[in-house]
Amino acid sequence: MFERYDRPVRCRAGHLFTTTWVPLGSLKAVRLGRRRFQYCPVGHHWTSVRPLDPTLAGADELEQAAAVHDIRIP
Ligand SMILES: [Zn+2]
Repeated sequence: MFERYDRPVRCRAGHLFTTTWVPLGSLKAVRLGRRRFQYCPVGHHWTSVRPLDPTLAGADELEQAAAVHDIRIP
């Protein structure tokens, strides 16, 4: 469903989108509570995001997250 490092995430304002979550970066993020500061393409703002847990997220949430990717596909 997702590319190798693509993860569904939720921003602080509740927006759902997909971002590239590089393992090395997420190691640092773990120390910060698995949060990462980045640009949200849904609300067009900078915010902290957290990865969605696919086992806890609803299907509709995953669908919303999959619909928006912060990197344009080449
Ligand atoms: Zn947002």
